[in-house]
Amino acid sequence: NLDLKHIKQNPELYSRNCIERNYRSYADYPFKIQQLAEEARELDHKLRTPRSRIRELGKSIAKLAGSADPSNASGRITALREEAQRLKYESQTLSSRQANCVGEIHRLALSLPNLTSPETPSGNEPKLIQYINFDPEYPPSWLSAPNPDRSHVIIGTTLGLIDFTSAATSTGWGWYFLTNEGALLEHALVQYALTVAIRRGWKVVSPPSLVYSFISEACGFQPRDQNNEQQIWSIEQGEKDRGKPQRSLTGTAEIPLAAMYAGRDIDPSTLPIKLVGSSRCYRAEAGARGTDTKGLYRVHEFTKVELFGWVDSDPEPSWPSSVALFSEILAIQTEILTSLNLPCRILEMPASDLGASASRKRDIEVLFPSRLRSDSGGSDIDAAWGEVTSASICTDYQSRRLETRVRGGNISGARFPHTVNGTAVAVPRIIAAILENCWDETRGVVVVPEVLRDWMGGMHVIRAQ
Ligand code: AMP
Repeated sequence: NLDLKHIKQNPELYSRNCIERNYRSYADYPFKIQQLAEEARELDHKLRTPRSRIRELGKSIAKLAGSADPSNASGRITALREEAQRLKYESQTLSSRQANCVGEIHRLALSLPNLTSPETPSGNEPKLIQYINFDPEYPPSWLSAPNPDRSHVIIGTTLGLIDFTSAATSTGWGWYFLTNEGALLEHALVQYALTVAIRRGWKVVSPPSLVYSFISEACGFQPRDQNNEQQIWSIEQGEKDRGKPQRSLTGTAEIPLAAMYAGRDIDPSTLPIKLVGSSRCYRAEAGARGTDTKGLYRVHEFTKVELFGWVDSDPEPSWPSSVALFSEILAIQTEILTSLNLPCRILEMPASDLGASASRKRDIEVLFPSRLRSDSGGSDIDAAWGEVTSASICTDYQSRRLETRVRGGNISGARFPHTVNGTAVAVPRIIAAILENCWDETRGVVVVPEVLRDWMGGMHVIRAQ
């Protein structure tokens, strides 16, 4: 189902695409695919001679065996059988070489990143689209007077909302317990995000946290990324699962949601299909270093509400159906973040930041006071922005790999739908953003955003326990 013909005809395009998307070590894959395809074709050609000779020999042997005096022909039959045996061995060797070529072509093509949309800025710099709850002419007062204590780690532990110490005992450093109103905030955020999506017609799903590893890979999540950093945790299978495919912990609900239509046909009249699912996400984050690793910003396990949809693949190259769903996801993200009063900016992400599956991606970043260097005097505002959501158009990248097709209605044959996904709420980062942005320093409380209060027993502020 991979578009091998397109790759073989355009190896330069795919190779340049790898380089632009920061998949440099894969840049020779398209040429290798072309070479292997040529080798497979030659092997196929070579196989024709022994195969047709084997058929001829079969006929001759049958004829001799059926002759009036087969015992007279036995010497000849033995010679022909020996020749056929030798040719069978030769053709088995050739066809196993051919199968290896085809397998390798498939492996290389599967790991190539998606092609990039013309909307995507080339290079490494994102394009600023819009600010939300933020006017650069009137920045928040804390920006001009950075205070290292305005950090979710300090606020959260002082108010009894996050417990890193107990988690270090139970699981290890880098894990956390959310406690008291911290835990309530998690449930409130999940409920709120689900409510916003359901109101807009999204259907709710609670997906499993384990998936077959080949499903993860088909969605563009390899066990190790292009820099060979571990991304995904595989689980050790028990006796009962011996011989079954390997399973891994999901990095995001995007993977099990995408798999709901793996190997299935979608009736075009049911499109767009829009699912919203809350799940635990597991990330090895082996390559992550620096200040991000402190607190809740980059953790190994977290709750996320994810939006995932399928649309028909439009004939127009501008993909209007995908763009419409992408805009709806961005509208949900904007509604949630606007109502949480968080200062945000929307960015069109550059080619180097798209990962494997996206052809186009927009991230929303929030200002985190703790990310501002205290010695910068507020001049280094760029450092204070941190990603909280992401929305991607994946075209037919995932549906080809998962064998999801649109079939029926007035469509002749079948075609691959496009998939679009985005974060509704990634809980720990949003809790961190709320603690830091809604911190009332003079009263020593966190002001609960109005939209969450109904799910927090009407609570307006969070105080020390
Ligand atoms: P992704 O699925 O990688 O696009 O991530 C979606 C969102 O999840 C990001 O925008 C972050 O808000 C959040 N996120 C990603 N990785 C982590 C992590 N290791 N810890 C906490 N939040 C994360």
